[in-house]
Amino acid sequence: MLEETITGLDLWHLALPVLSRRDHGIGSVEGSCEVVIVRLRSESGAMGFGEASTWSVFTGTPEASYAALNRYIRPLVVGRRVADRAAIMEDASKAVAHCTEAKAALESALLDLTGRILNTPVWALLGGKCRDTIPLSCSIADPDFEKDVDLLHRLRDDNVGLIKLKTGFKDHAFDIMRLERIAKDFPEFRVRVDYNQGLSIEDAPAQVRDVATFAPDFIEQPVRFHQFDMMAKLRNMIDVPLLADESVFGPEDMTRAAREGICDGVSIKIMKSGGLTRAQSVARIAAANGLSAYGGDMFEAGLAHLAGTHMIAATPEIKLGCEFYQASYFLKEDILESPFVVEDGQVVVPDGPGLGIKPDVAKLNAYAITKTVSE
Ligand code: MG
Repeated sequence: MLEETITGLDLWHLALPVLSRRDHGIGSVEGSCEVVIVRLRSESGAMGFGEASTWSVFTGTPEASYAALNRYIRPLVVGRRVADRAAIMEDASKAVAHCTEAKAALESALLDLTGRILNTPVWALLGGKCRDTIPLSCSIADPDFEKDVDLLHRLRDDNVGLIKLKTGFKDHAFDIMRLERIAKDFPEFRVRVDYNQGLSIEDAPAQVRDVATFAPDFIEQPVRFHQFDMMAKLRNMIDVPLLADESVFGPEDMTRAAREGICDGVSIKIMKSGGLTRAQSVARIAAANGLSAYGGDMFEAGLAHLAGTHMIAATPEIKLGCEFYQASYFLKEDILESPFVVEDGQVVVPDGPGLGIKPDVAKLNAYAITKTVSE
């Protein structure tokens, strides 16, 4: 069945309206969240979908992902056998540098297509399932903290137990004020802190030491991605685990990060690693070096959440939960045919074929800025 040929590749560049502004250390998102959706079609009429979730200040642009898929990756995919997934991914890695989100979308679509043809979930193609649910973390990142207080009430009502406070985008006093308010008014939440590279090397030691006194589960990426020496210094300065995010994209970065001792753990994202199998490699390198792993994400729609969920379901080394909150708490409307499932503060791993839920093509067409679709 996997001998069948891939006959088509369709693309949509979407602008999805969002509910709130999000400020992170290195930039903001306001108005809309832009993602690229790829659909592969095969001879039998089967389809597989993938999402490239980009952010220009972090991983790259939606325009670059669209061009990577449309111009450089399309000729490597159309006409190939569904069975050739590993060879197609290897060819894509050589055909276009960077564009890790486009490669994640490609592998998601190939896995979804394979799973639908074989009537098996993507997690089974990635090694089998080690968990049925994943604890959800939601980020607190609105520059208007009172709006986030409303969100905190909603999260508490929904039994979400993990939150990640985004810090380093305004000033230290604002960060400390919010940590104090959360500790006082919302003591039931377990708190993580993420600077998204927002601190200068001059300010980082004192500010990170202050924040560590609140004993969050971890502190993530205080300084710029390339400042490995400062990451190592901060790690050695505090008792709270230090996580690397922007410093570690794929297995190559993870190997260097472990060698140079820059972190106690890593935020793993399929959009950084360039695919689901490479994300699993990052987790295994981390674990082999005694480092913990967290299921991070970008500004995503539900389709990318699904791909990340299947990857984490099949990767026992990722033990710190996930942050697939955008479909439920950030987008005005998600793109899936049925909602991305979060129950009682836990992401529920789908058991249906492929990724388990398809995007609604009418919504893809409605939110498209650009598309290249041949029906
Ligand atoms: Mg982060």
